Amino acid sequence: MHPFTYVRAESLPSALDSARTEDTMFLAGGTELLNWARIGIESPSHLVDIGRLPRLHEITSTGDGLHIGALARLNDVAQDPRVETSYPVLSQSILRAASAQLRNLATIGGNPVQRTRCPYFRSNGPVACNKRVPGSGCAALHGANERLAIFGWTEDCVAVQPSDPAVALACLDAEIITEHVDGGRRIPATEFHTLPAEDPSAHNVLRPSELITGIEIGAPAPKSAYVKVRERQSYEFALVSAAAVVEVQDGVISRARLALGSVALRPWRLYDAEQALVGLRPGSPEVMDAVTSGFSASRPLSSNAYKIPLARNTALRALELALEAG
Ligand code: SF4
Repeated sequence: MHPFTYVRAESLPSALDSARTEDTMFLAGGTELLNWARIGIESPSHLVDIGRLPRLHEITSTGDGLHIGALARLNDVAQDPRVETSYPVLSQSILRAASAQLRNLATIGGNPVQRTRCPYFRSNGPVACNKRVPGSGCAALHGANERLAIFGWTEDCVAVQPSDPAVALACLDAEIITEHVDGGRRIPATEFHTLPAEDPSAHNVLRPSELITGIEIGAPAPKSAYVKVRERQSYEFALVSAAAVVEVQDGVISRARLALGSVALRPWRLYDAEQALVGLRPGSPEVMDAVTSGFSASRPLSSNAYKIPLARNTALRALELALEAG
């Protein structure tokens, strides 16, 4: 492992001040960063441990929404009564995201930053991968791509983002709050991850030494649900997943939000389907057509055409469960 220096930050200003060089990384739960260092994905020369920063573990009510500190452990978020009752889609996505041991360690701010599980990206040996070595190509394009993208890919990268909570946060129109020595910002969860057409070597829009400090979600979404399809129920990344948030008035759908996971390098909102669902009666035959309308931009790779009907049916199931909830 590459040698590095380590400092434990006692305050947010000191953490930001300690991270002025580009090869500095922040350490929180460590469940992902230490893997990156072990297999050579990242070789930071300086680690700033933010695990004990005050107040970033807290979950606080804000008007009709919630502010979740970036250091809140996944299990603490999933089991918070306000999240369980008002945002079941987020609670369910977290409980399906990892084993109980990992959920006790990993943080809500760190989970969306995890990187693709593309086997070439995670490989130890030299391999064509534009995310590991920009300009080297994409071995997955004509290789082992069974689990990879059906939306938003280019020949430069066909990977998918694996975070489950990120899908729920995109469906909830959450915002990711950051701080940086040059100023913080609010990033819509739908725009946090970078598509390959923008930059095939990038993972998200964070600048070097930009720190996620919290996540804000708006009005309660009690009629919501998350469905994850995976090869084994005990612990596995998703083949596809879907988050759904709905509102019903006078017996018809008045608002719908649908997001898919593990189909692209960012949670993929089905905006056309969301519009088509408004005005439909839950359970009517037109609901399937409305969900299907969200798939006009889907494109399979050489070995993953199965993911298109699987994703459509997963979105439909999440929608059904959301309609039954609340
Ligand atoms: Fe690398 Fe992306 Fe291609 Fe995987 S899909 S080999 S991460 S460039």
